[in-house]
Amino acid sequence: MPRARAIERSPDEKINWKTSAPFIAVHFLPLLAFVTGVTVKAVILAVVLYLGRMWFITAGYHRYFAHRSYKTSRWFQFVLAFGGGTAAQKGALWWASHHRDHHRYSDTERDLHSPQKGFWWSHVGWILCDKNNGWDEEDIRDFAKYPELRFLTKHDWIPPWTVGVASYLIAGWPGLVVGFFASTVLLWHGTFTVNSLAHVLGRRRYATTDTSRNSWLIALWTGGEGWHNNHHYYQASARNGFYWWEYDPTYWGLKVLSWFRVVRDLKVPPERVLQRARVRDGSFDVGIFRAHWARATAALADASNRQVEGVAARREALADQIFSTRQALEEHVQHTLQKADELGKLSRRNNRELAAE
Ligand SMILES: [Zn+2]
Ligand SMILES: [Zn+2]
Repeated sequence: MPRARAIERSPDEKINWKTSAPFIAVHFLPLLAFVTGVTVKAVILAVVLYLGRMWFITAGYHRYFAHRSYKTSRWFQFVLAFGGGTAAQKGALWWASHHRDHHRYSDTERDLHSPQKGFWWSHVGWILCDKNNGWDEEDIRDFAKYPELRFLTKHDWIPPWTVGVASYLIAGWPGLVVGFFASTVLLWHGTFTVNSLAHVLGRRRYATTDTSRNSWLIALWTGGEGWHNNHHYYQASARNGFYWWEYDPTYWGLKVLSWFRVVRDLKVPPERVLQRARVRDGSFDVGIFRAHWARATAALADASNRQVEGVAARREALADQIFSTRQALEEHVQHTLQKADELGKLSRRNNRELAAE
């Protein structure tokens, strides 16, 4: 989205290059494949690690910890937290508490990764600054009471390091470089597109109060998270693709696990809810209206600011002119008085000389 003015950021919203260095460095590690070479085993490992860890993020971190869209046992809850942790997106409590905040304040000033603040901010900026390092216990009391989840969130390096070492043991250096690091980088940016693009790209089926959209493209690489408008409309659902043609392998995985009773009580939206609030049927799209309204008022404020700035500039120029004219006049008067004085002196001398003759 083109922005008329540069977005202003508070100091804690600026990228902390020092703490972000490892994240940035990991992006270059896959280049070591030119040295280690690429093996079939390493590529297969990369695909498995991408799909598997994406599933843990979407089914675990997102649909379980953030939205409680199904139930499970304490041991599988731990598996979900550890599995999600292997994606190197911090701990489950950090991830889910921030995500709950996103739903609470979608597209407002308090939305932590609002695309209204620019693409890069919503994609990675919000993670690389100091502002969102911590997590608020109030946001996630229901899970913060489990010590094992607190432990994994505090020591969030353990799961990714475990997978990294395992990748090396399974497929050697290509396994680490391609299997682990390349798939981790892809997995990061795949996940981040839900924050940066799912409120920008695609269509709106439901009139929600935010700007979320449904995109089959985003669903493709995020295991079904691209049906983001469906999701904002009915967050409690374990299923984001509401119809069979809406690709949602995260839900299919959960469905299979429910057959084995590993998970239970998968929430899905009731049929009558699916039919309500459709933009197509003329429901007032308050989310898009709000976004346009915000943009229009911002543009108006901008224009009047510029006008005020214009008046101020004109007033300043005028004051300068008055000052210099007054100075010139003063100099002129001074000069005239001096000449008058000289003339007086000369005529007095003239008179004296005339009298002496
Ligand atoms: Zn969500
Ligand atoms: Zn959203």
